[in-house]
Amino acid sequence: MERTLVLIKPDAVQRGLVGEIISRFEKKGLKLVGLKMMTLDEAVLREHYAHLADKPFFEGLSNFMKSSPVIALCLEGLEAVDAVRLVTGITKAREADGGTIRGDFAMSVSCNVVHASDSRESAEKEVPRFFNPDEIHEYFKSEYVHVYAEDER
Ligand code: UDP
Ligand code: MG
Repeated sequence: MERTLVLIKPDAVQRGLVGEIISRFEKKGLKLVGLKMMTLDEAVLREHYAHLADKPFFEGLSNFMKSSPVIALCLEGLEAVDAVRLVTGITKAREADGGTIRGDFAMSVSCNVVHASDSRESAEKEVPRFFNPDEIHEYFKSEYVHVYAEDER
């Protein structure tokens, strides 16, 4: 099973959407294997958003991401990276499909309530960026019997 990183961003924390967002992922059938509240610093944001460092919006993005704590989630499932991106919706939230988290809860390109790893390669770097190995929990989830067919488990 694949693992991916989600950050519930400061706008969602401020707007009281944390439970609702976690619930969306749970209801999809994704398994929560890591969860913590963190206040991000400049160093981790420079690394996390390195691909955007030369963009004019970088400083604003960085200030936004430091403006209050975030909730980091590690989610596990079959092809979890793509599944989580689908549930998340596109970056420009006001154009995101209804039914997605961004489509249902946000209007902004910047304040778009969640971050989700965009590829397997990104997820493999991003999960250890935010979680120590002992913060990832391996356990049997009985629900898998119903979430997946036998040959998918
Ligand atoms: N972002 C922004 N302005 C832009 C593009 C992106 O503020 O024009 C922010 C936004 O919060 C976005 C994050 O930078 O979620 C990372 O951008 P990316 O292109 O990786 O989008 P994502 O993978 O989050 O959909
Ligand atoms: Mg991205």
